[in-house]
Amino acid sequence: MNALVVDDSRAMRQIIGRILKGLGFEVIEAGDGREALARLAEVPEVDLAMVDWNMPVMNGIDLIRALREDPTLGRVRVMMVTTESDISRVAEALGAGADEFVMKPFTTDMILEKLQMLGIETVKTT
Ligand SMILES: [Mg+2]
Repeated sequence: MNALVVDDSRAMRQIIGRILKGLGFEVIEAGDGREALARLAEVPEVDLAMVDWNMPVMNGIDLIRALREDPTLGRVRVMMVTTESDISRVAEALGAGADEFVMKPFTTDMILEKLQMLGIETVKTT
């Protein structure tokens, strides 16, 4: 399973990446939406994208819209990573094509639960 972690914060990418590696994913990182689309073009077999909302160049919602317009990327399940201040906009993210969302700060178990809701099988290695 391949996961793409999209966040402009390197620290946040590391936190999410560590959790996903612990659940058996190979992790690819991108610092903004445009970079994420470039990674997806290189590695089309991405199963899961964890997408931050606020990023420079291309934000999370615009990334999700672009991703959902690309028929070759239909298999990518998208989880929006939000802060409490974005929570009122979750409906917008879901309308744009996000499959799930998780609010910061989150735990491994919270991510695991959301992945199960998406029907994504994980291998707990930690
Ligand atoms: Mg951000």
